[in-house]
Amino acid sequence: YRADIERESHLPAITRDGVALNLMANIELVEEVVSAKDNGASGIGLFRTEFLYLDLKRFPTEEELLIKYKELAELMTPQSVTIRTLDINGDKFNPYIDPVEEANPALGLRAVRFCLENKDIFITQIKAILRAGAFGHIKLLIPMISCMEELAQVKAVIRQAVAELERDEKVFNKDIPLGIMIEVPSAVLMADELAGQVDFFSIGTNDLIQYSMAIDRRNRRVAHLYQALNPAVLKMIKMTFEAAHKNNIEVVMCGEMAGDPINIPVLLGIGIRHLSMNPASIPVIKKMVRDIDIEKARKISEELIQFTTVQEIIRFIQEEYKDIL
Ligand code: PEP
Ligand code: MG
Repeated sequence: YRADIERESHLPAITRDGVALNLMANIELVEEVVSAKDNGASGIGLFRTEFLYLDLKRFPTEEELLIKYKELAELMTPQSVTIRTLDINGDKFNPYIDPVEEANPALGLRAVRFCLENKDIFITQIKAILRAGAFGHIKLLIPMISCMEELAQVKAVIRQAVAELERDEKVFNKDIPLGIMIEVPSAVLMADELAGQVDFFSIGTNDLIQYSMAIDRRNRRVAHLYQALNPAVLKMIKMTFEAAHKNNIEVVMCGEMAGDPINIPVLLGIGIRHLSMNPASIPVIKKMVRDIDIEKARKISEELIQFTTVQEIIRFIQEEYKDIL
């Protein structure tokens, strides 16, 4: 069965009623491009850059980062590559990067918060990304945005990076699309305002579930509350999608939720058309997509409003899609 799925992984991701989807890969190393392509990805929807930093015992230079990002862009051309800026701390603590241990790292100086406090590290990375943008179709993604001020500060750093690259007469692309991860509930509540300021959203359900349900995503004792199909989580995804749609910007979902077949009908029903996942999940999700009818998915996602518990939602989806799940 798995062999059949893999044979079909290079067919287009088109629903039964003809809607084309964009199934992309989440990767952490440039070498994983091979696996993304083998599994039929239509681009890199999330390149996590933490490993370029954790593998070294010091911060990488702009030139070192450029070599990696350029290689990635060239390997994937003409498809797009979304490079996310450093999402350090939280769960990826490293003493050479930040010697301060925090009581609640997930709520601490993580990701863009760390980068805004360490502007030299941030600007070095942004310059490397803008320069790599001259060699392929690169998008810039900022993690953990929780308010408008942070986004304004990020934009100021990008402007400074552009000014410095111009001054130094570097080859770069200053029109790289700018996106933010929507993974903090405050960003969901401000999605309409944020959408007016960026080119795309990427919904990070791994963290969005953690922060919405107030459960540590690494703590097995509360793993039963880690519920992608919890009605509260679905409401957040819907709000985010609607704010983006209203402001005419693209929405990608790049959390693990996108890689589990049971979640696909409701995500498509809400309107999401760009999904990014672990490369190994792509063939299975593509098979699911090819068996789905968008019109039915839309009705199902509307009918889910009547349910108030995750158990009811799961039972309903399993029943409605028992032939293909
Ligand atoms: C997420 O939070 O859903 C996400 C994709 O990012 P990470 O898992 O790297 O935090
Ligand atoms: Mg995250």
